[in-house]
Amino acid sequence: MKYIKYSFIIFLLIYINSSFAQQSDSSVIKSIYDEALKSYNSYNELRYLCKNIGGRICGSKQSETAIEWAKKEMTDLGFDKVYLQETKVRHWIRGDKEIANVKSKISGNHNLTICALGTSVGTGENGIKGNIIEVKHLEDLEKIGSEEIKGKIIFYNRAADQTLINTFAAYGGVADQRVFGAIQAAKFGAVGVVIRSLTVANDDFPHTGIMRYVDSLTKIPACAVSTMGADSLSDWLKNDPQLEFYFKMNCKEEPEVKSFNVIGELTGTEFPDEIILVGGHLDSWDIGEGAHDDGTGVVHSIETLRLLKILNIIPKHTIRCVLFIDEEIAQRGARTYAESVTAKNEKHLIAIESDEGGFNPFGFEFNGTEEQTKTFKEWKKYLLPYGIYDIRPGYGGVDVSFLKDAGIPLAGLNVSFQRYMDYHHSPNDIFEHVNRRELQMGAATIASIVYLVDKYGL
Ligand SMILES: [Zn+2]
Repeated sequence: MKYIKYSFIIFLLIYINSSFAQQSDSSVIKSIYDEALKSYNSYNELRYLCKNIGGRICGSKQSETAIEWAKKEMTDLGFDKVYLQETKVRHWIRGDKEIANVKSKISGNHNLTICALGTSVGTGENGIKGNIIEVKHLEDLEKIGSEEIKGKIIFYNRAADQTLINTFAAYGGVADQRVFGAIQAAKFGAVGVVIRSLTVANDDFPHTGIMRYVDSLTKIPACAVSTMGADSLSDWLKNDPQLEFYFKMNCKEEPEVKSFNVIGELTGTEFPDEIILVGGHLDSWDIGEGAHDDGTGVVHSIETLRLLKILNIIPKHTIRCVLFIDEEIAQRGARTYAESVTAKNEKHLIAIESDEGGFNPFGFEFNGTEEQTKTFKEWKKYLLPYGIYDIRPGYGGVDVSFLKDAGIPLAGLNVSFQRYMDYHHSPNDIFEHVNRRELQMGAATIASIVYLVDKYGL
């Protein structure tokens, strides 16, 4: 009887103790969200990055300004350490605004809104003129054959699948046209490539993005046409398969240049050599302002450290914000960072990336061991009041994915999927499309997970 009584008291003490602990974690997390929702700090940072600096393709003057700005911003916020990590990046220049038009006796003469795909060669001063062959798949060219394709322009017009709830999957389902379209077309003797913009939106904004060449084949110029333009072009072609397409782009590539990742830290009190990483990419495509891609990830990462600091949440481990350079072209920043982690044998508890935009967050994708995944999922209980309900498997993000081989658990902030691809890599990726509260919810969510990882480990 006595034993049962003692057991009960011990159980009660444990229960009270754990419920206090939980209470206190919940209240810390509430304080993080409260501070985030009241603050305009990161929203103002994003405005500056978008409006005063603008699109910042790696190697550009704007990317240099962004590096200086980020370093100063983190220094002014009083982070314990702020420094640059040197790397080399490709230096591709778009040049003048691209021109495209169609001439047809049957379908009429029309201008089209296009942009060069990232790292495309130019067309030369006179542009390129030719007949168009419309296809839906890369493999279609094999059936058509070299004889017909030689000297023509290939128009890849496979639309993104509107029925997919995850628009990243819709994008992934059509991305081969942009990445490999020019290689495939060159194999059959085509002189140029036009792709339907990789977006679920129906508008007149062209979407750029990385493309590839191989040295064994002729490098032919490649551009993206807006989805409205692609639909029109397809209609005009139906009326007149012989219509003449013209495009001119004077983009070019110059020698590689020096660039930098920007890193800021709050030094851990107990384990300063053990790192919790939060990051996004500082570079963006040149034709928009790089707001959702990935200005929001940049300010999410800075804001995470600011929130912990201003709330006097003293971390045991070092909290490191890494703003990677060159995610869009060759991921040189991420590769350099990962090499340095291996060289220094640096321990990371987790690497968290935000690169899906500044929309309302609903969860994380997580890549770790079974045990780590279980722990990560248990923390959902603290975040449910803020609408964070989903922890799913995933790769975390392009930049942090290079840390996978080092055995580091990776996480990526997941935010509402529906609008990101409307803006992605287009002139429409502007500050005005970011909502301050949604942005702050993302930062608070990352900061809360950082707080939990720091307190309990993974
Ligand atoms: Zn991005």
